[in-house]
Amino acid sequence: MQMLRLAAIRLASSSSSSLSLSWRPNRTAKLTMFSGDSNYDDPSLNSTRKSPFSPSEFPHSNTDHQTLFHVLEACKLSSNVRAAAETHSRIIKLGYGTYQSLISSLTSIYASCGCPNLAHKLCNEIPCWDFDLISANLIIVTFMKIGAIDIAKKVFHNMPTRDVVSWNSMIGGCVKNACFEEALRIFQEMLSLNVEPDGFTFASVITGCARLGARDHAKWTHGLMIEKKIALNYILGSALIDMYSKCGKIETAKEIFETIRRDDVSVWNALINGLAVHGLALDAIAIFSRMVVENVSPDSITFVGILTACSHCGLVEQGHKYFDSMTCYSIQPQLEHYGAMVDLLGRAGHLDEAYSIIKEMPMEPDIVIWRALLSACRTQRNSDLGEVAIKKIKQLGSGDYVLLSNIYCSVNKWDSAERVRDTMKKNGIRKYRGKSWIEMAGAIHQFKAGDVSHLEREAIYKVLEGLIRRAKMEGFSPAIELVLMDVSDEEKEENLNYHSEKLALAYGILKTSPGMEIQITKNLRTCLDCHYWMKVVSRILNRVIIVRDRIRFHRFDGGVCTCGDYW
Ligand SMILES: [Zn+2]
Ligand SMILES: [Zn+2]
Repeated sequence: MQMLRLAAIRLASSSSSSLSLSWRPNRTAKLTMFSGDSNYDDPSLNSTRKSPFSPSEFPHSNTDHQTLFHVLEACKLSSNVRAAAETHSRIIKLGYGTYQSLISSLTSIYASCGCPNLAHKLCNEIPCWDFDLISANLIIVTFMKIGAIDIAKKVFHNMPTRDVVSWNSMIGGCVKNACFEEALRIFQEMLSLNVEPDGFTFASVITGCARLGARDHAKWTHGLMIEKKIALNYILGSALIDMYSKCGKIETAKEIFETIRRDDVSVWNALINGLAVHGLALDAIAIFSRMVVENVSPDSITFVGILTACSHCGLVEQGHKYFDSMTCYSIQPQLEHYGAMVDLLGRAGHLDEAYSIIKEMPMEPDIVIWRALLSACRTQRNSDLGEVAIKKIKQLGSGDYVLLSNIYCSVNKWDSAERVRDTMKKNGIRKYRGKSWIEMAGAIHQFKAGDVSHLEREAIYKVLEGLIRRAKMEGFSPAIELVLMDVSDEEKEENLNYHSEKLALAYGILKTSPGMEIQITKNLRTCLDCHYWMKVVSRILNRVIIVRDRIRFHRFDGGVCTCGDYW
């Protein structure tokens, strides 16, 4: 409570301009607070007062908690956070610091007035809550915004009554904080309690399914939406297209596109982006052409999509054409368009041209653009330009070091690669933890590299070892440079054999019948070794393996990948 008291006092005495310091007249509030003050409504008096809720104005001896509660309610109505903070210090001084109604009221004021951290602290310190429905919903949204999911959950679970807004705030908040499984779990709970979901609920759930790449969940959610007769507006329509394409069902995404109203550009953008990550650049281009026929103007997102599509397929000439045509639609190329061009040119081996674009672009290139160049330097094995890029990236992340180290390895500059690794160690930079997951019978099974936490780990490793042996017999050899230097994106807990997507694949094989397609989702870019291995396994087992990594979809079939080893 001491820390909170200090925070309240600091806030009360703060002169920060970001706070609403001035008292905005609110008649109701004034009357509630100073009903006995005959002078109060005198405007001249008003102008000389700093704040009607200055602590000095409380009648010292007989201020009870109810008066304080009314003061806080008045602060809430007027969004006067400074007065609330002053009252807060007063509450603590007068010994009312544990009064539930006062704490609840303060929490909702802090939450709604841009002081989520204070609200968070306050919520953490009280054993139970007494919020009204509207305040509680608002507090959930505020906590979700700052990523305080646990405290939002506590508020949610302590609510005596909840409405659809409460559920939507929880589900939407979890999705925004990348807790997709949790979002789906709360959605199930909502249904089991017979709370009717609305369009907003479905928009969040669909996004959750899309991000997870959870096909079964996706299909089931869509079915439920139809059953509940939820009207398909352009937001839900584009969300569905996005969901199916991210779940590897690009054909279903196309079917939905054909059956819904397409007068909003977001519907087109969803499909163009979907086709892009599936490496279907020509289809994306065809869709773009149809926009003209159907009288829909492309926006800046459309161009990001179409340039990305060109980039994934190495269509340099078309990429240039679309980039140049942007001004015809009165769209000025932004950072992301320049980024897409740098990516396109870099991947296609036109490194100098990519670098020229960076030097000539009218705005300051951002970290994403330098990373695109760095990444292209790795593919093209150009360590000189790679060094230029790395100097420009001010805050180097683990991925940047990994890329640079990879570049040095690819041109046999082992000493330089070693130096990068030493720097990483010295600065305590750890590589990202790779994660892959697979959906099986409605459940998501997640694996980390070298994971031994799965209940069926023994069977999984047996399948994996068997596959590794068979792949070796078929001539597969691990990407040597990666083994030597440990330079994959993924944290190396074990050797390359136990990268997360390999474990997920082994589980998929264990649980499905021969010939069935297997789909895996991964949080990072898949490494060279795993990519090569997946190709070999798809041929040995005669199965389609689909891997959605951070960059795009890879569909391995008969020993080849749809990305053409270009990712
Ligand atoms: Zn790997
Ligand atoms: Zn691939």
